[in-house]
Amino acid sequence: MNKLRIGFGYDVHRLVEGRPLILGGVEIPHPYGLLGHSDADVITHALCDAILGAAALGDLGRHFPDSDPRFAGISSIKLLEEVVQKITSSGWKLGNADITLVAQGPKIAPFVGKMEKNIAEACKVSAKQINVKATTTEGLGFTGTREGMAAYAVVTIIDSSIASVRS
Ligand code: MG
Repeated sequence: MNKLRIGFGYDVHRLVEGRPLILGGVEIPHPYGLLGHSDADVITHALCDAILGAAALGDLGRHFPDSDPRFAGISSIKLLEEVVQKITSSGWKLGNADITLVAQGPKIAPFVGKMEKNIAEACKVSAKQINVKATTTEGLGFTGTREGMAAYAVVTIIDSSIASVRS
């Protein structure tokens, strides 16, 4: 078995009026929010898919289908906690996560610290193991026109029999 594996996740949600904007488990003041069956936290969804991918455990939709009313409006941070439990049961722990939000606005810099803390707590790791950053697409494409937001995530997972992870 490999001691270290890498996972990648990507997610997109549409921006609409009348929904709260939840990113990394933080509600951000904004006239638009992301549309989805859960709270549509695109950052946390990309991260969940990266973690599941690293452990070869499929994807978020397989574990939490959007046809299932149990997951309607659910906090994606709760889904992340369950995803981490699944990889823990498979003998893995999170090494680090690097997540990029693609959005024309709003500025997320004031909220990044809290997002990293929320994610780290859900993953039972230090906030130093989590990085959240953002970019615009210079007005181009669906993110540039504010029709939606996208997020990319890359993670490492480590064989949990290895004693310690430098954080
Ligand atoms: Mg999603």
